[in-house]
Amino acid sequence: MLEISFFGVRGSTPCSSETTMGVGGNTSCVVVEAPGHDPILLDLGTGLRYAGEEMCARTVVPSGGTALVTHLHWDHIQGLPFFTPLLRPGSAFRVVGPPQDGTLREAFEAFIRPPLFPIGLDLLPAELAFEAMDTGSFDLGGITVTVAPVPHVGATNGYRLDHAGGSVAYLPDHQQPVDMVPTDDVLELCRGVDVLIHDAQYTPEEFERKSTWGHSTPEFALRVAIEAGAERLVLFHHDPVHDDEAVYAMADQLRANAPVDGPEIIVAVEGLVLQSGSAMPLGVEDPQVAVGS
Ligand SMILES: [Zn+2]
Ligand SMILES: [Zn+2]
Repeated sequence: MLEISFFGVRGSTPCSSETTMGVGGNTSCVVVEAPGHDPILLDLGTGLRYAGEEMCARTVVPSGGTALVTHLHWDHIQGLPFFTPLLRPGSAFRVVGPPQDGTLREAFEAFIRPPLFPIGLDLLPAELAFEAMDTGSFDLGGITVTVAPVPHVGATNGYRLDHAGGSVAYLPDHQQPVDMVPTDDVLELCRGVDVLIHDAQYTPEEFERKSTWGHSTPEFALRVAIEAGAERLVLFHHDPVHDDEAVYAMADQLRANAPVDGPEIIVAVEGLVLQSGSAMPLGVEDPQVAVGS
């Protein structure tokens, strides 16, 4: 059983206004947990700050975990120095991400340092281990992590987690191809997955104007989900210019044109919690999962 908690669902840049509060304004951060396991962080966007606050409010605060970073665009890493568990001496986190020109640690050191940030990465109390990989799989205490390259702008990974019959695939940034045919790597990563979290940033009209910016329409996300045989499709990485109404309208339009036997279509919002293997999303009103936005 995997519990999947959404703390940041926005793409590109955080946004804060009354018209986007329902969906939420923080950038990509999803936390996956299984009983008895350290948390797995899918990306480190600004939603990570709220994930850290939630963890620090627990009776037992996690002292370790693994971050699976898809790529190093700001909206996927900016929350790292605001993740309060890193401020606790003795904590140790592993960060996995795609290979860079230098080491992965050097890439993070390049943005967490003066003058871009008040302190350097080395002054964070936690021990951080960085590991570059773009393909293959490894075991995290019984959870199988699979890594595969995903077309985007620059080196980008997609991740899949399998545990006790549950599975989730995470592809927040995915360049929709001209021919709408997903790569074999992408299809294999998402094959038969219970929950597919997928880029759904642009309307078809917006995509016409931004067809090389590295993102997808909900229509392409659905195509990936259908071809891979995913049970549930979570529309993710919402464009910052889309208010709540626009995000839900895109989902409604997709549902209207989707095959009746297709995957369940879910809009990612801050505070959403999904359990893999169950179709029971808990609402944002649930006090156990509510987060600020
Ligand atoms: Zn992004
Ligand atoms: Zn990106």
